[in-house]
Amino acid sequence: MSYVSGLFGSAVFNDSVMKERLPKEIYQSLKRTRESGFPLEKHVATVVASVMKDWAVEKGATHFTHWFQPMTGITAEKHNAFISPAPDGKVIMEFSGRELIMGESDASSFPSGGLRATFEARGYTAWDPTSNAYVKEGTLYIPTAFCAYSGEALDQKTPLLRSMQALNFQALRVLRCLGDTTARRVDVTVGPEQEYFLIDKALWERRRDLVYAGRTLFGARPPKGQEMDDHYYGSLKQRVADFMKDVDEELWRLGVFSKTKHNEVAPAQHELAPIFETANISADHNQMTMEMLKKVAGRHGLACLLHEKPFEGINGSGKHDNWSLATDDGRNLFEPTKLPQENISFLLFIAAVMMAVDRFAPLLRLSVATAGNDCRLGANEAPPNIISLFLGDELTEILSAFEQGTEAHNCGREVMEIGVSVLPRLKKDTTDRNRTSPLAFTGNKFEFRMLGSAQSIAWPNVMLNTGVAESLREYADRLENCEDVTQEARSLLRETMRDHKRILFDGNNYSSEWIAEAERRGLPNLPTTVDAIPWLLKPEVAELFERHKVLSASELTSRYEIYLENYIKTIAIEAGTMLEMARREIVPAVIRYTAEVCATKLALKSCEMPSALEDELLGSLSALGGALGSQVALLQSRLDVLPDGDMLCVARYAQTELLPAMSALRGTADALEAVVGVSHWPFPTYGDLLYRL
Ligand code: ADP
Ligand code: MG
Repeated sequence: MSYVSGLFGSAVFNDSVMKERLPKEIYQSLKRTRESGFPLEKHVATVVASVMKDWAVEKGATHFTHWFQPMTGITAEKHNAFISPAPDGKVIMEFSGRELIMGESDASSFPSGGLRATFEARGYTAWDPTSNAYVKEGTLYIPTAFCAYSGEALDQKTPLLRSMQALNFQALRVLRCLGDTTARRVDVTVGPEQEYFLIDKALWERRRDLVYAGRTLFGARPPKGQEMDDHYYGSLKQRVADFMKDVDEELWRLGVFSKTKHNEVAPAQHELAPIFETANISADHNQMTMEMLKKVAGRHGLACLLHEKPFEGINGSGKHDNWSLATDDGRNLFEPTKLPQENISFLLFIAAVMMAVDRFAPLLRLSVATAGNDCRLGANEAPPNIISLFLGDELTEILSAFEQGTEAHNCGREVMEIGVSVLPRLKKDTTDRNRTSPLAFTGNKFEFRMLGSAQSIAWPNVMLNTGVAESLREYADRLENCEDVTQEARSLLRETMRDHKRILFDGNNYSSEWIAEAERRGLPNLPTTVDAIPWLLKPEVAELFERHKVLSASELTSRYEIYLENYIKTIAIEAGTMLEMARREIVPAVIRYTAEVCATKLALKSCEMPSALEDELLGSLSALGGALGSQVALLQSRLDVLPDGDMLCVARYAQTELLPAMSALRGTADALEAVVGVSHWPFPTYGDLLYRL
């Protein structure tokens, strides 16, 4: 066995461990639960728990934890030792079926958006048997869903699982109509490409903004940014290479298919891409990846920045969510096959996505709306805030033929030829040309490119899954009740193209012409988080989510509250951090430097030497220092009266009152940085952070 295959999954309670260690009928029963969603029987849980515990103890585990994904965007864990008292005063290692499948925790410190009444502060965690348990640092990690006493979801995983279930149900209906009798399940597959920055840990520690806010809130641009394009795919520095090797090995041990690593566009920016997996497992693994990046960075004296915009003036970090649908018998529903124009199933599934993206564009937009991602989207380095869909010329042509009622084969051998022999090249072109597209068909999957690097991928996938489930539901309703399925499918393609082609855009999404064009087409443009989040409260959104049993109205409201609250708190923390840095670091530095220049000037004067340089410098220091003082006072006064109450009003206040005051303060501080001597500046500069590794 090779080193990697021996290492891969060695800390995971996966199918092969289950098969080897569980009694046969228990294994079969658990497999039915894992693969077909049959409810887990109690006696099965008891046996699984005991076997899992023995396995984990052999791997050095002393504790177990229900690992879950509250609405903080990160994960939570509370470790319990396996120990139970024995009569002889010693302990035995125990783990019951109940402990495996259910946990209770005080949920009052997790965001609930009003879901969890104060009299019922308990939260419950429930084992997700579809995602494998693993051992890490002496603890058995059990992936779980997290809900309130009422069963309402307090986490990211539950709605994701529900949306996958909804999509599976509707997709199977459509497949059956189209004559597929073998598929038993349709899975959502996701591969998230993760971008991040690496900087020196010692420098990171000296920047309060990085420590508190995860991004720089001050910092003048260095003379060199990313203009030379010399970082993308550049050879890896030794320290970075060592770090990446370590990350790969840690992830492989945990069964994460870490596959690709390279330098990204911005200096100090990198990317890790895994092989795609079922959506909820991919979401779990992406969380584990983000944690591991941070943890391993620490071991190498590095800090890993996952923020969407750690540095002003150079590219920020995103996460490309590659999304597709696959049957359990191995068919990718977005595979064009040799004759895409004759592949009605392929075309219908493409059309279903197109319809969903057009109808639910605001939901896709809001699923990536955070204060951090606001710093990046629409800034000509990332997709704009207008959702559109790129299908590529050939596919658009085929669908247009259906719309115009020309027979599909009329688009002829030409397209067929292209479809057959040049698809790989086609795919490559497509990717190249539509770098600017927020959502693109890339050969046999869709790539949603608006996600922020720090966010959970669960929420955007909930939107994609639910939206597409709705399209498929309507298709299935029609197909199940028609005389001629082929004819009806053609009508569906024609109607979808007719009604939703406005969402298709193959041009440059960064151009101002597109903004105007999108407006003419009536496509929503939601520039910021504050514009996007209120869509969660639209009646048609509640109807959609209730119909597919993905989120109840109260769960939607809770998310509205949580996302706005998160936005407000993020900005308030950033404002507070800026004030602290300005008052306690920048101002003292400016004073010290000014004093030094004054002393020099006096000394020169006493020798009757000219002091033009000093005079000019003092003029700048005095003017900028004065401006800084009043901007600090203004920001403080605005932060002091941050209103309470209606979340949307507070968020708007943060956006319109705090952000501009922060921006002004930053401008002045950055101008001071350019004037004050290097040895006086109180914290590492952009040049230090980006180039000293
Ligand atoms: P890029 O050109 O954007 O780097 P790649 O072809 O390298 O695209 O794929 C990027 C990601 O897409 C990887 O994580 C890969 O596993 C994932 N991917 C490939 N096929 C699928 C699929 N059918 N479903 C979901 N993700 C997929
Ligand atoms: Mg990509």
